[in-house]
Amino acid sequence: MNLKALRAEAQELQNEIVKWRRDLHQIPELGLDLPETSAYVERTLKELGIPVKTGLAKSGVVGLIAGCEPGPTFALRADMDALPIQEETGLAFASRHPGRMHACGHDTHTAMLLGAAKLLQAHCAELKGNVKLIFQPAEEGPGGAEPMIRDGVLADPPVEAILGMHIGTIFKEVPAGVIGVGYGPLMASLDRFYIKVIGKGGHGAMPETTVDPVAITGTLIGALQQLVSREQKPTHPLVLTIGRIQGGSAYNVIPSFVELEGTVRATREDERQSIARRMEAVVAGITQGLRASYEFKYDFGYPPLVTDEGVTRHVEETARELFGPEGVMTLSEPTMGGEDMAFFLERVPGTFIFLGGANPAKGIVRAHHSSTFDVDEAVFWRGSAALAASALTWLDKNHKQRHASRR
Ligand SMILES: [Zn+2]
Ligand SMILES: [Zn+2]
Repeated sequence: MNLKALRAEAQELQNEIVKWRRDLHQIPELGLDLPETSAYVERTLKELGIPVKTGLAKSGVVGLIAGCEPGPTFALRADMDALPIQEETGLAFASRHPGRMHACGHDTHTAMLLGAAKLLQAHCAELKGNVKLIFQPAEEGPGGAEPMIRDGVLADPPVEAILGMHIGTIFKEVPAGVIGVGYGPLMASLDRFYIKVIGKGGHGAMPETTVDPVAITGTLIGALQQLVSREQKPTHPLVLTIGRIQGGSAYNVIPSFVELEGTVRATREDERQSIARRMEAVVAGITQGLRASYEFKYDFGYPPLVTDEGVTRHVEETARELFGPEGVMTLSEPTMGGEDMAFFLERVPGTFIFLGGANPAKGIVRAHHSSTFDVDEAVFWRGSAALAASALTWLDKNHKQRHASRR
């Protein structure tokens, strides 16, 4: 397949991708409940002549483009959900749903994957295998990848490699329209913890009659941070943030307990498991040593996002061929944000790429999850082209390898 031709076809689709995006932008929905969005995706795929399965993880939609030649299956994944934010962009196509907004760009992911679907469907005679189109709900929580996997999205036909993409400014160094790729750990796990330090309340002037959970919490915070500064390999990023502390109600009363809540971000699964264990050991040791007791809860959220070297290299080379060397950049370090895509990458070799969506020259600079978040629509065709071309050439390559090894 000539990628120059595919590039030109993607450029021709630009207006249609923009239309899809603007339609979706007006109907933001939350979590696993995306009736209007998934109906829109289903309808559009059917109009393209692509068979569709719905109802995976409630609102998930899966399309399958079967190539004319049998072969392996490559998956492309987009997320479809929005955020509970009141939009303040003033755009003509702003949200029609009060208190909900596509403030992370998932409307653009959905539109760009529809664009890739149209490109691939037009070339299905040249596909040496299948392309599965995965539209998932609930990336912003509670998570849609795992329930879709449970509902069989990676089976029948089995997915052998997967690619996902995020637009915007997650990696600020990626300029508008450029594709950022990264090797190995690229995004962090997203876990949440709760600690209750239980002491014995009393008069602020008579600490000896109490077990002061405020003072114990002070010691505990320092000790928890030591897990990062003294037990973690310094070249492996790890974040332990306590975002909420609550205890006491009067200046001269020692309360009976203090609550802490926070998040841990790790880029490696073994380090994530280790800090969860060590945190509880430190909480137990310090509270016991200082005569208090505790409650400790650690909720494992999304795992670290780790890309596969082979698929990443393939996508990087494809993007370079499509857009030239200036259209691609290699990311040198991970971000500590989390992504539901990580669950797919735990099970199937694949990668996650970043399409630069901010454009200071056009005044488009606001961060994700803000009420004025927007992206430069001019980059959309590039996203669709990168997805479609990566799938097409991956099938080409892997079909050839198998064919050669059979002989
Ligand atoms: Zn987000
Ligand atoms: Zn997002």
